[in-house]
Amino acid sequence: MRSVNFRIRWLGYLFAVVLSSCASPTNHPVDETPTLQEITPIPAEEETIPTKIFFTPTSDTPQPTPAPFILPTYTIHAVYDATQMKVSVNQLIQFTHLFHQPLNKIFLIVEPNRFLNGFVLNRLEDQITGRKLEWELQQNWLQIQLDEPMSFQQSISIVAEYTLQLPEIPPPSETRKPQIYGYTQRQTNLVDWYLWLPPFDEETGWVIHPPSFFGEYTVYPLADFEVYFDVVNSPRQVVVAASSSPVVEGQNHWEYRFTGARNFAISISADFEVNKIEVDGVKISHYFFPLYRHQGEVVLNHTIQAFQLYSELFGELPRQSISVVQADFLDGMEFDGLFFLSKGFYDLYDGTDQGYLTLITVHETAHQWWYAVVANDQAQHPWLDEALCTYSERLYYERYLPELVDWWWFYRVNFYQPEGVIDLPVYEYTGYLAYRDAVYLRGAEFLEEFRNALGDVSFFEGLARYYDKNTGRIAAPRDFFAAFNLTEEEIRGNFNSFFGSIP
Ligand SMILES: [Zn+2]
Repeated sequence: MRSVNFRIRWLGYLFAVVLSSCASPTNHPVDETPTLQEITPIPAEEETIPTKIFFTPTSDTPQPTPAPFILPTYTIHAVYDATQMKVSVNQLIQFTHLFHQPLNKIFLIVEPNRFLNGFVLNRLEDQITGRKLEWELQQNWLQIQLDEPMSFQQSISIVAEYTLQLPEIPPPSETRKPQIYGYTQRQTNLVDWYLWLPPFDEETGWVIHPPSFFGEYTVYPLADFEVYFDVVNSPRQVVVAASSSPVVEGQNHWEYRFTGARNFAISISADFEVNKIEVDGVKISHYFFPLYRHQGEVVLNHTIQAFQLYSELFGELPRQSISVVQADFLDGMEFDGLFFLSKGFYDLYDGTDQGYLTLITVHETAHQWWYAVVANDQAQHPWLDEALCTYSERLYYERYLPELVDWWWFYRVNFYQPEGVIDLPVYEYTGYLAYRDAVYLRGAEFLEEFRNALGDVSFFEGLARYYDKNTGRIAAPRDFFAAFNLTEEEIRGNFNSFFGSIP
């Protein structure tokens, strides 16, 4: 009985938390979560002129000065000590300032600093001059005060040496979001683990959001990654899954190049088995734990089919590989070129496609289009990627499992009788369920109504146009509506039950 009760409670937990996979509470208790207004946005340098750097212009935003599009480069040498659970990092950050107004400060995101003793900065200096840089570390960001302001098109190369003490991933809890970063007995996950530049907005400055209790809040401008990764002190040979395929692979040594990407995630396990296949030039790899070989085939097949469908409907994916990783935590989560699928989905798999293993596999695959290639501000406009990815599930069932479309609407959406407006910042929903119901479920309902109103031809042409015009960008809702030749006001007027007041 005990095990049955546990299973029921556990299933209940899983249903509550993972239904909106890749968006559930963080490990921060609610009362510690700062409000958006407290530190966001960090003001721009004084008199910053209206030129965007990492944001390329939105369709209805005039761009007075065309700026060269030079991506930041992160060259990362990392050594993971599998016994001490530490990562020693030497990182070179090359950044070109693309504003006319001098820049006095540079901000870097430091997510590992959210964990107690999780981040120790040993060295921070200008690589060219060798001079130490003045810095201040707060919560999840590092501020660098420059001795001399950077001028337009001036570059800086920053050397940072730091140590990450990885946190243990805690067991499932009904009150906290599953933690991804850190280690379990059989898996170590490095996500948002290095220093990275947040986007810069012409009007508001550096875009840095405080951690949210549920949902994501990070925003990723494109960057070029060069990663050298070594594993030491591992009692067993490990397998490494990453956001891109290695260009060099040696004994406990891997090298990667990932250009024009949002982020670079790594998952390490001595237990991984791997299935690989190449589809239309893209290498799809599934990393899974022993005894899940059957589910492994199911996941790989759905990923392949979803990849083919979304390539057809949305547009070509400018990536060379996708890594699908069985997660040793109870959540699904997307990163560029890599996504996690909860081990819980594998355990629940009943041999049919009426379950989370199928649902979330195709949901997370869709994030490679809506999150990685076309990004959005996940804190301000979480519906942009999550509603599209939830609706992508529906498109998947429609194409490959049409007899289950009604089941999908009932099981995934209608059962919860979702309410709420879909377009609030993540901080403004009153709780996780309110957020999930509105952003994911009402979001999918909106897209269905929108499609019905436009007709299939216009709807799919608009989606493909949105993808094409916003590839590499951080899109806003107005970009989505513009792809359908509609204004935000027209959409909000015609579908007002889904939208709040104009922000
Ligand atoms: Zn998602």
